[in-house]
Amino acid sequence: MAIKSKNTDGGSSLRSRLQILIPSAIVLAGVAVSALYADLQQQRLSREAARNAVGENLGLIRTKLEANINANIKLLQGMVAVIGTEPYVTQKRFEALASSLLSTPSQIGNIVAAPNLITSFVHPYEDNKSFIGNWILPPPNGEEAVRQLREEGKTIISGPLPLKNGAMGLIITLPVEMTNDDGKRVFWGGLAGVVDVTRLYDDSGLRAPDSPLAITITDDSQQTGNQAVIYGDSHVLTDDPVTMIVDLGNEKWAISAVPKGGWHAMSRPDVLIRSMIAAMSALIAGSVIWVAGLMRERQRNYAALRQREEELLAMSYRLGVALESSRIGVWEMDVGSDHLIWDERLYNLYGLTPDTPITGETWRSMVDPEDVDAIEEGMRQAIENQSSYTGRFRVIRPDGKIVHFRTVGTAFGDQKNKMLLLGVNWDVSADVLLQEELSQAQRETAQRNEELETARQRMEYNSLHDALTGLPNRRYLDQRLEALAAAPDRPEARLTVLHMDLDRFKEINDTLGHGAGDAILRHVAQELQSMVGECDFVARIGGDEFVIVCQGCDISEGYEAMGSNLISAVNRPIVYNGHECRVGASIGIADRIEPELTAEQLLVNADIALYEAKRRGRNRVERFNDQLRARTINIKRTADAILRSLGDDDFIAWYQPQFDARTLAINGVEALARWHHPQKGILAPNAFLETAENLNVVSQIDASILDQALEQLARWKTEGLGIEHVSVNISAQRLFEDKLLDHLAKLDFKPGSLSFELLESISFDDKADAVAESLERIRTQGIAIEIDDFGTGYASILSLIKLSPSRLKIDRQLVAPIVTSPAQRKLISSIVDIGRSYGIGIVAEGVETMEHAAILRDLGCQTLQGYALARPMSPDNFIDFARKHALQREDLLRRSA
Ligand code: C2E
Ligand code: CA
Ligand code: CA
Repeated sequence: MAIKSKNTDGGSSLRSRLQILIPSAIVLAGVAVSALYADLQQQRLSREAARNAVGENLGLIRTKLEANINANIKLLQGMVAVIGTEPYVTQKRFEALASSLLSTPSQIGNIVAAPNLITSFVHPYEDNKSFIGNWILPPPNGEEAVRQLREEGKTIISGPLPLKNGAMGLIITLPVEMTNDDGKRVFWGGLAGVVDVTRLYDDSGLRAPDSPLAITITDDSQQTGNQAVIYGDSHVLTDDPVTMIVDLGNEKWAISAVPKGGWHAMSRPDVLIRSMIAAMSALIAGSVIWVAGLMRERQRNYAALRQREEELLAMSYRLGVALESSRIGVWEMDVGSDHLIWDERLYNLYGLTPDTPITGETWRSMVDPEDVDAIEEGMRQAIENQSSYTGRFRVIRPDGKIVHFRTVGTAFGDQKNKMLLLGVNWDVSADVLLQEELSQAQRETAQRNEELETARQRMEYNSLHDALTGLPNRRYLDQRLEALAAAPDRPEARLTVLHMDLDRFKEINDTLGHGAGDAILRHVAQELQSMVGECDFVARIGGDEFVIVCQGCDISEGYEAMGSNLISAVNRPIVYNGHECRVGASIGIADRIEPELTAEQLLVNADIALYEAKRRGRNRVERFNDQLRARTINIKRTADAILRSLGDDDFIAWYQPQFDARTLAINGVEALARWHHPQKGILAPNAFLETAENLNVVSQIDASILDQALEQLARWKTEGLGIEHVSVNISAQRLFEDKLLDHLAKLDFKPGSLSFELLESISFDDKADAVAESLERIRTQGIAIEIDDFGTGYASILSLIKLSPSRLKIDRQLVAPIVTSPAQRKLISSIVDIGRSYGIGIVAEGVETMEHAAILRDLGCQTLQGYALARPMSPDNFIDFARKHALQREDLLRRSA
């Protein structure tokens, strides 16, 4: 709309501008044409005046020219007359006549006379003597000129022609006649005078330096277009000259003139007149422009008025559109009469047709009863204070739809002092709906957040609790201890930790199933929780491990008693699936007396105490103390030293021989690890093996011992000792090591000369398959398997036999009592029987006396090993021993017999 109005604006202003511009332009053009015409007229008049002046001047010059030529002719005619009377004139006489003639001022410089037209007499003689004998008429005068001269007696004028002296000359030739003897006039010849044209022109005023004219003379006798210029500049001829004719008898000259500097210089226009014309034109043009300006101004005012009118229209249209699209209805109420006026939109909003009569009462009946009072109270106050009010109410429309309205009204008195309320209503249902949806969404979000929070809490609880017993788990314990450690100066920071581990729990699991195991764990958890104090914290930190953190209570001997009570409670049997289940428990206690002790260290201490309790026979309580601490430190020290020694190859093999029970000849050797301690000297395995196991380095030691043993085996062979078998001990760690077989494959030994001694305790029944598999591979390398410490473990003899060992080594605990105990002898004898029936050799260890040796031999053991026969020895000592033994064997045999 705005663009459209702008367009009309532009169009109308252009039109109005043209309406003024066109007449103004016509008037101005008229003025300009008139001024031009006046100027041209004035120019024409001045040109005419100039021509007249030139004509006058030129006429004068022509007259002078003609007069001068005529004067020259007259002079010559005088001479003609004289010669006509003296037919026999001589050169001398001629000269006298000529010089007298030339004494009269004239333009004639030379005179010649020619009887029969042949030049015979010349004056002045010296200058002209060369002409004597020439034809008098200068070329191009031909027969016609001769005829005219001879027959018609005409004067011939030729030239101007260039003379010998370089000047130009006009030659005038006259006929000469004389009377012959018969008295008849006869032609005698010619007389010619040469007129110096320069002088002629000067004397005629042609070349006067002050002359205002530029003059040109042309030969006009031929009367052809291109006239030959005789004098002056040919440009005069092209400048519309004033021309006159000079009649010379046989010749005609045209004399033409223009003002010097051209007509233009002569006929310069009159400046005053021109100024006047310009002033008049300016006066007229100025008035026209002024009037035009006034008219434009008036039209501009019209346009502004028109635009304002259009804007007003547009604004009211826009207001209409805005009200329409905003869906705002306007109403007015006469307070006194309760009469209401609504606009069409309001009817629309209320769902009524515009012809419905409406009063305050009708309106009230449509408003939701819940909202009527509040809105009417607003109106009442506005009327009372003649002020405005706002409000919101619901309307139930005739079609049943509920519409939310917002209203704004103002009370005022009109000119007649009538109280009126004027206001607007608009539909805010969509906003209300949106508001409701928003708060609904908010409620839902809040609820979801609550659920999420609950879920989070549940997850957190789960992450911190053991699902089976409901007790706090390891993570929770760590957090708890961390929190306590963070405040070490609080009195509660004095902590005691009880670490409990169930004894025989694995057996229950294995024998009665996991259900029974779970029942036991729940039972233990219940007992613990019911027995600890309120400020104590119980956690299950592993399969069958529990930790009780006691804080804030007096640290006293009480905890040992509490531990014992806990063990008794745990010991109480429970019945599961008709089975009575019972477990034992060991407890380690550690206190935090020094605040700087970390929670982690406290747990480690409790664990050390627990280990001690188990070591001391289980089902008991041990408290961490200085002795345990010292041992721990010691173990740590040992560990460090072991690690150092591994690098220094300080683990060396010693050798203990094995003997044939009957011949007592050495039939094998067991390699035994020794630690060459840098300070303490040679140490036996009990000083390092356990620690090395914990450090996971036993397999390294085993490997080293194996290498050394094979080296010695080769040495014994070269020494010719006749010892062809060596046994080395193999730990569980090494047995299950990945690189074991690679290592074995690289070894160099004779198949059957090497055995691995495997502790009976390794071959757990549940690992039997893995063990069997590993042993099978070892055997394929040509290495025999022996079961060590046979009789101490729990492994069933059948499962051991499945491993197909080459020998069983009866533990020394079984061997020791045989001297006094027939039952033990019986046991050994049955082991020997089993061995014999499966083709397995029997070795007896710990043979401490020769009596033992004899009994074992008689019981059927094939091989004997023990202090009675030989102790473990260094490699060199062993070789010495072996040599000597061969010699002393006889003696031994006698003693064992
Ligand atoms: P074992 O395999 O039973 O080795 C025999 C142990 O009994 C040796 O103790 C030996 O000195 C000792 N012994 C020999 N004859 C008698 C006797 O008549 N009476 C008594 N009381 N003891 C006797 P050692 O050398 O201290 O070894 C102890 C254990 O250390 C070995 O017991 C073996 O289990 C382990 N061991 C030794 N060397 C190695 C090894 O290189 N690797 C692994 N993994 N374990 C080894
Ligand atoms: Ca052994
Ligand atoms: Ca053994």
